[in-house]
Order: sequence, then C-alpha cells, then structure tokens
Amino acid sequence: MKLPIYLDHHATTPVDPHVFEAMRPYFTEHFGNASSKTHAFGWRAEEAVTLAREQVAKLIHAEPKDVVWTSGTTESNNFALMGVVRAQSKRGDHVITCATEHRSVLEVLRALEPLGVKTTVLPVDGNGTVDPQAVREAITDRTILISIMAANHEIGTIHTGVVNGDIGKIAKEKGVYFHVDAAQACGKIPIDVKAMGIDLLSMSAHKVYGPKGVGALWIRSREPHVRIEPLLYGGGQESDRRPGTLAVPNIIGMGRAFEIAGLEMDAESKRLTNLRERLKTGLLEQIPKVLLNGHPTDRLPGNLNLSFLGQRSDALIPKIRDIAVSSGSACASSETAKPSYVILALGGAKERAVSSLRFGLGRFTTEEEIDFAVERVVEAVNAH
Ligand SMILES: *Cc1c(COP(=O)(O)O)cnc(C)c1O
Repeated sequence: MKLPIYLDHHATTPVDPHVFEAMRPYFTEHFGNASSKTHAFGWRAEEAVTLAREQVAKLIHAEPKDVVWTSGTTESNNFALMGVVRAQSKRGDHVITCATEHRSVLEVLRALEPLGVKTTVLPVDGNGTVDPQAVREAITDRTILISIMAANHEIGTIHTGVVNGDIGKIAKEKGVYFHVDAAQACGKIPIDVKAMGIDLLSMSAHKVYGPKGVGALWIRSREPHVRIEPLLYGGGQESDRRPGTLAVPNIIGMGRAFEIAGLEMDAESKRLTNLRERLKTGLLEQIPKVLLNGHPTDRLPGNLNLSFLGQRSDALIPKIRDIAVSSGSACASSETAKPSYVILALGGAKERAVSSLRFGLGRFTTEEEIDFAVERVVEAVNAH
C-alpha cells in the first residue's frame, strides 16, 4: 500500500491509464487541428473528435451534435447561465437555483445581478435535497431557467427530483429551460437527458478519470431548440457555439473516460457502495460524536461526509497526513477552513459545518486502504 492514500476523488481523479494511452498519439503523431479541412492531419484529428463526441453523448443518451466542448464544468455552467440569460432577456429575467449548488453556478448568478437578473435560491432539507414542489412554486411569468445539480460535490446527495424527471417535467409544463450541473454525477449514476427532461447539461472529464481542463455543455437542439448566446467569440468552431482550437488530446481523453465509466458503472457502483459502507461503519462504531452529512441512501456511491463534533476539520486534517481528504470543496480550500456553505445549508448548528470531512472514494481505492483510513481517523479523533 502506497502512502498517502487518495480519498479526495470529488476534487479530481487520476487519469485512467487506458485514457492516457488513448490520448498519447494525439500529442505528437496525430497533432492536427480538427478544423483543418485541407489535409490528413486535420481529418485524423476530426475523426477522433467525432468518436469522442459519440462516446460522451452515449453516456447521457443524447445526440452527439448537441455536445459542445468546453474547458470544464466551470465554463459549461457560466456558458449555460450567461448564455441563456442573454438569449432570453426579452422573455424574462428570473432564474431558480438551490443553496448547495457549486460556486460556478452561484457566483455567475451573483455577477448577473447588476444586469437585472433576479435569482431565487431555494433551500434544501436536512439531507441536502431540494423539493420539486418548491421549484414549481418559485416559477413566475418572468422565469427563464431552473438550474439544479444532479449530485452534490460535498455531501454526495443525489437530487431525486432531477434524476426521476420531476423537475424536468415541471420545467416543460411551464416552458422554462432546465440546466443541470452533472460534474459529479456523470459516469457515477445513470444520466438520461431525455428521460430527465433536461435542456442543458454540464460535464467535466477530470472527475471521471479523464484529463483536467476539458468538459462539455450538452445543449438540446429539438423540442425545444434551446436558444443560447455564446460566451466566447472567434473562429466559428463548434458551430459558433464555442470558438477556439479544440484541445484534441483532452477531448479524446474525455471520450474514452466517459466510455469506460459507462461500461463499468454498474459493477463499480456496487463495489464503491460496499467500500463506502465499510468506511462509514468502521468510523461510526469507534467514534462517539459523529454525524452523517447528506442523504443516507440517495448519495453518490463513493461519497461519505461526516462531522466530528467537538473537532475542527482544519485541526484534524493535519493529524491524518497519510490520508488525502478535504473538509469541503477544493475550490475554497485554504488551510484555515471556513464553515462549509453546503453543510450550513442543511440547517443545524454551525459546529457541524466546521467539523466536517469529505471522503471521496474512487476506481483505484482498495479495501486495505479503507481499513487503514478507518484506523488513522479513529486514532486522530479519539486522541483529541
Ligand atoms: C468540480 C465541479 C465543478 C467545476 O468543474 P471544473 O471542471 O473544475 O471546472 C462544477 N460543479 C461541480 C458539482 C463540481 O464537482
């Protein structure tokens, strides 16, 4: 067993060796610009990008041509929200989201406020779930967009109202677009944009054993044809929706990563759930004051989030240096932890939000590593 043990798979994942092998020739040998139409270098790159587009589309049950490459979910979320707000400004100015969204949703909406965009930030219940009925009640005749994530990056809660299609149905009924941040969900749980009534879906490669710096926004082109303004202007790539020379090796990697995730999802989901339960049971049995954050069952297989009452996560983390975990999202990380806004949104005492640890298990996590992590965390917490 190699130390430290990586249990921070919500922040990022290692590139799967099969993904890396698929990418390799596209750096040196097949280095063409996918937009070069006049020679074999360009054709080769374009062919590979076409395959990747099919691989990504397949995982979410979508049409390949509606997948637009971006630099990751941060860009996809910015593109979806700003793009729809700008294209729909004559129709309305109201957006609905929820309190536990990633900051790349919440901050965009804040930045749009001076332009007259009004946002309703819905609360979540104690498990981190948003109530579809509350979404329905928040809709006004000025509402243009609902943005609710599929699964949360800190507490792992899966929004059942997103994946069972309830929110999508409400959006359709009211003629409002429905955007979903699926950075944590893609490749971990089944996503079907049609069955779920989704209009725009944000994805990243690096949360699913692909490379960093590439992602996609899926934009529905039929029933309805989503009207959206681009974020960037330039050379016309991606049918003018996202210009700029395509990051061909990264895109190949994302395609292969999504393909593997689809093939392994069922088995991997069971394996990770078992490991996660082993970690949970081990910690809960041996540590007296600990609370589970997030939904007890509707959660990502590889996610466990616990609050160790009476401890501060920023004091606890340095005592378990052999285990790479975090107290919340990597984006906000600084050594002195601020209380997690996601856990604050669950209600309850502030103490819970400053004492949380997020364990993110992944494809290469072993039982031996989990047993070691249990031992170390128990030791550190109980020595306090
Ligand atoms: C990681 C993450 C993002 C940001 O993705 P990047 O690829 O790092 O830009 C957005 N939303 C969620 C839920 C995430 O987990």
